[in-house]
Amino acid sequence: MPCNEKELLASRHPCYSADSQHKFARMHLPVAPACNIQCNYCNRLYDCVNESRPGVTSEILTPEQALAKIGVVRSRLDNLAVIGIAGPGDALANWEKTRATLVGIKENYPDLIPCLSTNGLLLPQYAEELVNLGVGHVTVTVNSINPVLSEKIYAYIEWEGVRLKGTAAMQKLLDNQMAGIRILAKYDIMIKVNIVMIPGVNESHIPAVVAAVKEAGASLTNIMPLIPAAGSGFAHLPQTSNRDVAAMRDACQTVLPQMRHCRQCRADAIGLLAQDRSAEFRDTPSCPSGGCGGKKTSEEFTVEGNKYRVAVTSKYEKLVDQHFGHAERFLIYETDGIQSSLLERRDAPKYCSGNDYCESEEESKQETVRKLADCAAVVTMRIGNQAKERLLTQGILAVEACNEISAGLAMAVKQLILKKAG
Ligand code: SF4
Ligand code: SF4
Repeated sequence: MPCNEKELLASRHPCYSADSQHKFARMHLPVAPACNIQCNYCNRLYDCVNESRPGVTSEILTPEQALAKIGVVRSRLDNLAVIGIAGPGDALANWEKTRATLVGIKENYPDLIPCLSTNGLLLPQYAEELVNLGVGHVTVTVNSINPVLSEKIYAYIEWEGVRLKGTAAMQKLLDNQMAGIRILAKYDIMIKVNIVMIPGVNESHIPAVVAAVKEAGASLTNIMPLIPAAGSGFAHLPQTSNRDVAAMRDACQTVLPQMRHCRQCRADAIGLLAQDRSAEFRDTPSCPSGGCGGKKTSEEFTVEGNKYRVAVTSKYEKLVDQHFGHAERFLIYETDGIQSSLLERRDAPKYCSGNDYCESEEESKQETVRKLADCAAVVTMRIGNQAKERLLTQGILAVEACNEISAGLAMAVKQLILKKAG
């Protein structure tokens, strides 16, 4: 049972309390696109890896749009408890937007718990203001406390408009992270420290990081796997295995409590941790144009030339080897038919589990199609006519293929271009 205000707030925050992850929803506001450092595991085409999955692009909202969207989401999610600012860049590197959003939350939604994540470079500068704005939970990513090792993890920092490299720059980042944590701890703020476990780079150093952030005042650490992002400095490294992450958490548990249920959420995630409902709110009518405004069609996701967002059904992520009706997870790519990047793995209800069930689950079928609403096409091994037509009514082309994913994507782009040409 929580016995003080801090514990009470933490007990309603799905990330700080494993027990509440199935009860309370959180909403991330993607109001912070810029970043002031370059982590070698990050490709800035995508969201901040420190608080979201690599390869997941988000809409960007203005503070006004974000605040309007909270109202809409809250009217439909009565368990909404936490509002977080988690990128897609660094919350503090976009201070004016972040502050305006936090002021709006404090004035309009005082019962919701504001939360924020940062790389920590600007934390000493803004920590007290965060406290005054009512932020009770802050996540800081600290991957190293050794500036020489940090040089392997970060390409540079940007400080007062100047790009800085080398150990002095890394020491600046480290000093600011630790100073920021200390200031927040002084005000009894809940501090979670994220640590990306990078194979062959910082693994053996992680216990030292955990001990240092504990000493500075952190309440828990969240050791996360490296998920290599295409185009990043660490794209060539393997993904950290779940087993290695679990073993490291076990080893560090004696020093600080470990978060073990992090989902590495999108910067625009909405809902329970295990059930992202952000796709449902992307056509939120109360938001002005752009961002979440208006239903986006697949055409609007064409980035330039003939790039499309395409969903793929695949069991092992190599071949198009799964029936559309059996897929519970879609790989979402952005592709021009030649070059493709995996944006995310998106869960959706099974469209069909067999004929009888298939006839009866109308709501679930609609939900599957809704989940793919931002895609121009679905590449799948087999698909029934009814499903094909249902997708088509939403402007989504179904393409059957049974070869490698890259070949299936090329086929889909070809068909989309032909379709566009009339
Ligand atoms: Fe990318 Fe986040 Fe690192 Fe910035 S802080 S470079 S957005 S991972
Ligand atoms: Fe919580 Fe992890 Fe999602 Fe952040 S990324 S909201 S810590 S589950």
